[in-house]
Amino acid sequence: MRILVTNDDGILSGGLWALAKELKRIASVTIVAPDREQSAIGTAVTLRQSLKVQKVTPLVPGIETYAVEGTPSDSVILALGKLINDRVDLVVSGINRGMNLGEDVHISGTVGAALQGYLRGCPALAVSAHYGEDERPELAARIAARLAGRVLAEPRLNRAFLNVNLPHADPAALNGVTITKLASETHVNTVEEGRYGWHKFYWLVRQRSGNGLEPGTDVSAVEQGCVSITPLSINGNRKPPARALDRLCTEVSRELTGA
Ligand code: MN
Repeated sequence: MRILVTNDDGILSGGLWALAKELKRIASVTIVAPDREQSAIGTAVTLRQSLKVQKVTPLVPGIETYAVEGTPSDSVILALGKLINDRVDLVVSGINRGMNLGEDVHISGTVGAALQGYLRGCPALAVSAHYGEDERPELAARIAARLAGRVLAEPRLNRAFLNVNLPHADPAALNGVTITKLASETHVNTVEEGRYGWHKFYWLVRQRSGNGLEPGTDVSAVEQGCVSITPLSINGNRKPPARALDRLCTEVSRELTGA
Protein backbone atom coordinates (compact mmCIF):
# COMPACT_ATOMS: atom_id res chain seq x y z
CA MET A 1 0.00 0.00 0.00
CA ARG A 2 1.21 3.50 -0.75
CA ILE A 3 0.13 6.73 0.93
CA LEU A 4 0.77 10.22 -0.39
CA VAL A 5 1.25 12.73 2.40
CA THR A 6 0.94 16.46 1.85
CA ASN A 7 -0.09 19.61 3.73
CA ASP A 8 -0.50 23.36 3.48
CA ASP A 9 1.80 24.39 6.34
CA GLY A 10 4.86 23.56 4.26
CA ILE A 11 7.50 20.85 4.11
CA LEU A 12 9.11 21.81 7.44
CA SER A 13 5.92 21.60 9.47
CA GLY A 14 6.08 19.34 12.53
CA GLY A 15 2.57 18.08 11.83
CA LEU A 16 3.57 16.77 8.41
CA TRP A 17 6.46 14.73 9.79
CA ALA A 18 4.56 13.41 12.81
CA LEU A 19 1.92 12.22 10.35
CA ALA A 20 4.41 10.65 7.93
CA LYS A 21 6.21 8.85 10.74
CA GLU A 22 2.98 7.19 11.96
CA LEU A 23 1.76 6.33 8.47
CA LYS A 24 5.09 4.71 7.63
CA ARG A 25 4.22 1.97 10.13
CA ILE A 26 1.32 0.83 7.92
CA ALA A 27 2.34 1.65 4.34
CA SER A 28 4.97 3.07 2.02
CA VAL A 29 4.87 6.85 2.33
CA THR A 30 5.81 9.51 -0.20
CA ILE A 31 5.72 13.18 0.79
CA VAL A 32 5.02 15.82 -1.82
CA ALA A 33 4.33 19.14 -0.14
CA PRO A 34 4.71 22.89 -0.68
CA ASP A 35 8.17 24.26 0.11
CA ARG A 36 6.60 26.99 2.27
CA GLU A 37 3.44 27.77 4.18
CA GLN A 38 0.34 27.92 1.97
CA SER A 39 -2.46 28.09 4.53
CA ALA A 40 -5.80 29.48 3.34
CA ILE A 41 -4.80 28.97 -0.32
CA GLY A 42 -7.81 26.68 -0.77
CA THR A 43 -7.93 24.75 -4.01
CA ALA A 44 -5.60 27.11 -5.93
CA VAL A 45 -3.75 25.52 -8.85
CA THR A 46 -0.77 27.14 -10.62
CA LEU A 47 -1.46 27.33 -14.36
CA ARG A 48 0.42 30.40 -15.63
CA GLN A 49 3.91 29.51 -14.53
CA SER A 50 6.11 26.44 -14.34
CA LEU A 51 6.55 24.49 -11.14
CA LYS A 52 9.91 23.72 -9.57
CA VAL A 53 10.23 20.51 -7.60
CA GLN A 54 13.16 19.47 -5.45
CA LYS A 55 13.83 16.04 -4.03
CA VAL A 56 14.92 16.70 -0.45
CA THR A 57 16.40 14.76 2.46
CA PRO A 58 13.57 13.46 4.63
CA LEU A 59 13.41 14.31 8.34
CA VAL A 60 12.16 10.74 8.87
CA PRO A 61 14.46 8.26 7.11
CA GLY A 62 13.07 6.11 4.32
CA ILE A 63 10.45 8.51 3.00
CA GLU A 64 10.83 9.80 -0.55
CA THR A 65 10.24 13.54 -0.15
CA TYR A 66 9.64 16.31 -2.66
CA ALA A 67 9.30 20.04 -1.99
CA VAL A 68 7.15 21.88 -4.52
CA GLU A 69 7.35 25.58 -5.23
CA GLY A 70 3.59 25.68 -5.54
CA THR A 71 0.31 25.12 -3.77
CA PRO A 72 -0.96 22.07 -1.87
CA SER A 73 -3.18 21.21 -4.85
CA ASP A 74 -0.19 21.54 -7.22
CA SER A 75 1.70 19.12 -4.99
CA VAL A 76 -0.98 16.43 -5.19
CA ILE A 77 -1.50 16.85 -8.93
CA LEU A 78 2.26 16.57 -9.51
CA ALA A 79 2.59 13.62 -7.16
CA LEU A 80 -0.21 11.58 -8.74
CA GLY A 81 0.43 12.73 -12.29
CA LYS A 82 4.21 12.51 -12.45
CA LEU A 83 6.34 11.91 -9.39
CA ILE A 84 4.89 8.63 -8.11
CA ASN A 85 4.87 5.79 -10.60
CA ASP A 86 3.16 3.24 -8.35
CA ARG A 87 -0.50 3.22 -7.54
CA VAL A 88 -1.41 5.50 -4.63
CA ASP A 89 -4.01 3.98 -2.30
CA LEU A 90 -4.68 6.96 -0.05
CA VAL A 91 -3.94 10.68 0.22
CA VAL A 92 -3.56 12.21 3.69
CA SER A 93 -3.21 15.96 4.13
CA GLY A 94 -2.02 17.46 7.43
CA ILE A 95 -1.56 17.54 10.28
CA ASN A 96 -2.69 21.13 9.94
CA ARG A 97 -1.84 23.38 12.82
CA GLY A 98 -5.27 24.76 13.71
CA MET A 99 -8.67 23.31 13.01
CA ASN A 100 -10.55 23.53 9.71
CA LEU A 101 -14.24 23.70 10.49
CA GLY A 102 -17.51 24.57 8.79
CA GLU A 103 -17.29 26.66 5.65
CA ASP A 104 -13.60 27.26 6.32
CA VAL A 105 -12.99 23.96 4.50
CA HIS A 106 -13.55 25.88 1.27
CA ILE A 107 -10.50 28.09 1.82
CA SER A 108 -8.34 25.48 3.56
CA GLY A 109 -5.25 24.38 1.66
CA THR A 110 -5.24 21.22 3.80
CA VAL A 111 -8.69 20.26 2.55
CA GLY A 112 -7.92 21.57 -0.96
CA ALA A 113 -5.02 19.12 -1.25
CA ALA A 114 -7.14 16.22 -0.03
CA LEU A 115 -9.78 17.20 -2.59
CA GLN A 116 -7.30 16.82 -5.45
CA GLY A 117 -6.53 13.30 -4.25
CA TYR A 118 -10.20 12.50 -3.99
CA LEU A 119 -10.95 13.88 -7.48
CA ARG A 120 -8.19 11.62 -8.85
CA GLY A 121 -9.82 8.51 -7.48
CA CYS A 122 -8.05 8.11 -4.14
CA PRO A 123 -9.72 8.06 -0.76
CA ALA A 124 -8.56 11.19 1.04
CA LEU A 125 -8.25 12.45 4.59
CA ALA A 126 -7.68 16.04 5.71
CA VAL A 127 -6.50 16.15 9.32
CA SER A 128 -6.32 19.30 11.46
CA ALA A 129 -5.66 19.76 15.14
CA HIS A 130 -5.50 22.47 17.72
CA TYR A 131 -2.20 22.33 19.51
CA GLY A 132 -0.27 25.02 21.32
CA GLU A 133 3.39 26.05 21.25
CA ASP A 134 4.38 23.49 23.85
CA GLU A 135 2.13 20.73 22.52
CA ARG A 136 2.81 18.31 19.73
CA PRO A 137 0.75 16.81 16.90
CA GLU A 138 1.59 13.17 17.78
CA LEU A 139 -1.89 12.27 19.02
CA ALA A 140 -3.47 13.63 15.85
CA ALA A 141 -0.91 11.68 13.84
CA ARG A 142 -1.73 8.42 15.63
CA ILE A 143 -5.42 9.01 15.05
CA ALA A 144 -4.79 9.77 11.39
CA ALA A 145 -2.84 6.51 11.08
CA ARG A 146 -5.71 4.54 12.67
CA LEU A 147 -8.11 6.12 10.20
CA ALA A 148 -5.77 5.51 7.31
CA GLY A 149 -5.38 1.84 8.24
CA ARG A 150 -9.16 1.40 8.40
CA VAL A 151 -9.73 3.23 5.10
CA LEU A 152 -7.11 1.06 3.38
CA ALA A 153 -8.66 -2.13 4.77
CA GLU A 154 -12.33 -1.32 4.21
CA PRO A 155 -13.60 -1.44 0.61
CA ARG A 156 -16.72 0.53 1.58
CA LEU A 157 -14.41 3.46 2.38
CA ASN A 158 -12.54 3.43 -0.90
CA ARG A 159 -14.21 6.69 -1.97
CA ALA A 160 -14.11 8.33 1.44
CA PHE A 161 -13.31 12.04 1.64
CA LEU A 162 -13.10 12.90 5.30
CA ASN A 163 -12.30 16.08 7.20
CA VAL A 164 -10.96 15.29 10.67
CA ASN A 165 -10.48 17.81 13.49
CA LEU A 166 -9.00 17.37 16.96
CA PRO A 167 -9.70 20.12 19.48
CA HIS A 168 -6.92 19.04 21.90
CA ALA A 169 -3.49 17.48 21.84
CA ASP A 170 -4.24 15.72 25.13
CA PRO A 171 -6.16 12.41 24.86
CA ALA A 172 -7.50 12.86 28.42
CA ALA A 173 -9.11 16.14 27.37
CA LEU A 174 -10.99 14.53 24.50
CA ASN A 175 -14.57 13.58 24.91
CA GLY A 176 -15.14 10.90 22.28
CA VAL A 177 -15.35 10.72 18.52
CA THR A 178 -18.30 11.65 16.41
CA ILE A 179 -19.43 11.80 12.79
CA THR A 180 -20.54 15.33 11.97
CA LYS A 181 -21.76 17.60 9.22
CA LEU A 182 -20.12 20.91 8.34
CA ALA A 183 -21.41 23.87 10.29
CA SER A 184 -23.14 26.22 7.87
CA GLU A 185 -20.90 29.08 8.91
CA THR A 186 -17.90 29.56 11.17
CA HIS A 187 -16.28 32.81 10.18
CA VAL A 188 -17.39 36.05 8.63
CA ASN A 189 -14.77 38.00 6.78
CA THR A 190 -15.03 41.71 7.37
CA VAL A 191 -12.87 44.46 5.93
CA GLU A 192 -10.94 46.92 8.05
CA GLU A 193 -9.49 50.07 6.59
CA GLY A 194 -6.26 51.79 7.55
CA ARG A 195 -4.15 54.65 6.26
CA TYR A 196 -0.44 55.05 5.65
CA GLY A 197 0.24 58.60 4.58
CA TRP A 198 -1.86 59.14 1.46
CA HIS A 199 -2.40 55.46 0.95
CA LYS A 200 -5.37 53.51 2.11
CA PHE A 201 -4.95 49.84 2.87
CA TYR A 202 -7.29 47.07 3.85
CA TRP A 203 -7.20 44.00 6.03
CA LEU A 204 -9.54 41.06 5.67
CA VAL A 205 -10.39 40.21 9.26
CA ARG A 206 -11.83 36.88 10.33
CA GLN A 207 -14.32 36.69 13.14
CA ARG A 208 -16.17 33.70 14.49
CA SER A 209 -19.82 34.02 13.62
CA GLY A 210 -21.11 31.92 16.51
CA ASN A 211 -23.64 30.32 14.18
CA GLY A 212 -22.02 26.90 14.09
CA LEU A 213 -23.42 25.48 17.29
CA GLU A 214 -26.29 23.65 15.69
CA PRO A 215 -26.15 20.09 17.08
CA GLY A 216 -24.44 17.52 14.90
CA THR A 217 -22.02 20.00 13.33
CA ASP A 218 -18.24 19.84 13.42
CA VAL A 219 -18.11 23.11 15.37
CA SER A 220 -20.45 21.88 18.09
CA ALA A 221 -18.52 18.58 18.33
CA VAL A 222 -15.16 20.26 18.92
CA GLU A 223 -16.76 22.75 21.33
CA GLN A 224 -17.71 19.69 23.36
CA GLY A 225 -14.15 18.36 23.16
CA CYS A 226 -14.92 15.61 20.64
CA VAL A 227 -12.86 14.49 17.68
CA SER A 228 -14.95 15.41 14.64
CA ILE A 229 -15.02 13.32 11.46
CA THR A 230 -16.96 14.98 8.65
CA PRO A 231 -17.62 13.06 5.41
CA LEU A 232 -17.36 15.75 2.72
CA SER A 233 -19.54 15.64 -0.32
CA ILE A 234 -18.64 16.84 -3.79
CA ASN A 235 -21.14 17.00 -6.65
CA GLY A 236 -23.61 15.04 -4.56
CA ASN A 237 -21.30 12.04 -4.30
CA ARG A 238 -22.35 9.16 -2.11
CA LYS A 239 -20.96 9.37 1.40
CA PRO A 240 -19.54 6.19 2.91
CA PRO A 241 -22.14 3.93 4.56
CA ALA A 242 -23.02 4.84 8.15
CA ARG A 243 -21.88 1.50 9.52
CA ALA A 244 -18.42 1.89 8.02
CA LEU A 245 -18.23 5.40 9.52
CA ASP A 246 -19.31 4.11 12.94
CA ARG A 247 -16.47 1.59 12.77
CA LEU A 248 -14.10 4.48 12.10
CA CYS A 249 -15.30 6.23 15.27
CA THR A 250 -14.75 3.03 17.25
CA GLU A 251 -11.21 2.75 15.88
CA VAL A 252 -10.34 6.30 16.85
CA SER A 253 -11.92 5.92 20.28
CA ARG A 254 -9.71 2.88 20.80
CA GLU A 255 -6.66 5.05 20.09
CA LEU A 256 -7.87 7.61 22.65
CA THR A 257 -8.45 5.04 25.36
CA GLY A 258 -5.10 3.44 24.63
CA ALA A 259 -6.64 0.06 23.79
MN1 MN B 1 -2.30 25.40 7.43
